[in-house]
Amino acid sequence: MRSPGDLTQSLINYAPVPLRATLPNCATEAFSILMYHRVCPNYKGLPRCPWGVTPRQLSEQLAGLLEMGYEAWPLNRVLEYRQKNKPVPSNAFVVTFDDGYANNLHWGLPVLKELNVPATVFVVTSMLDRYEPYPSDEWQMAGSSRVPAKTWVSLTSDQAKQLLDSGLVQLGAHTHTHVNLAETPQVTEVEIFTSLVELSERFDLQHIPFAFPYGGVPENFDDAMIARLRNAGMTCALTTQEAPVGPGQSPFAWGRFTAHRTDTATTLAAKLDGHYTLLRDAWRKVRGQ
Ligand SMILES: [Zn+2]
Repeated sequence: MRSPGDLTQSLINYAPVPLRATLPNCATEAFSILMYHRVCPNYKGLPRCPWGVTPRQLSEQLAGLLEMGYEAWPLNRVLEYRQKNKPVPSNAFVVTFDDGYANNLHWGLPVLKELNVPATVFVVTSMLDRYEPYPSDEWQMAGSSRVPAKTWVSLTSDQAKQLLDSGLVQLGAHTHTHVNLAETPQVTEVEIFTSLVELSERFDLQHIPFAFPYGGVPENFDDAMIARLRNAGMTCALTTQEAPVGPGQSPFAWGRFTAHRTDTATTLAAKLDGHYTLLRDAWRKVRGQ
């Protein structure tokens, strides 16, 4: 059965009148965070990668949002504003990429540079410098010689440094081995801690954002653990809870919206403005979920 999230995505994809023109912004004091994964071209006759966009889709989505008046902010700036209780404008949005694929450098960075869009790349630290497919990769072509390796391989440390040196990209932690922490809460602290230390030592970073793999927030991610991980440099913890980030919300539970290949700038705007969350919650209510 399709989930309320899938149904809502279909609705915003096919709504004949753009929601933005008819509904008020439901997230006036909130900003939103977008989540991407792989950026690579489609290869004729081969299965498309899950969780991916083409460079052109990335460019059209981001350029379209900028044309509509949205502003791309770096994650550390929204963190700083929220920390100082300064209002973040509701047209601000943040771009993130999960897993740390080399394709983020090859195909993502040129788009970010062209549009001057800052982004955070959340790296699976055990995969850095390893020339092999991610164990978590669901794409049948991962590891295949029928597609260029840069479509499925991780960044090397040098490539991650190139992203940093671009001045547009911040690196974040995404655990050491890409585990679903909600399913294995006993490894939460060691997984996050190891990834923070790896990034800090390799790239001389002190302040490091974190994103949960699979959005899995473990039950033991409590204030005491957060305090210990903050000491190790963690500045925030992002989930995949698809909702705008309201004022006063703890940065250790900020949600993100997936940007799918089927999204356009208009459907992403429906997410940033809170319409997607409103409709999905209405579906959930109707279905008693
Ligand atoms: Zn991931």
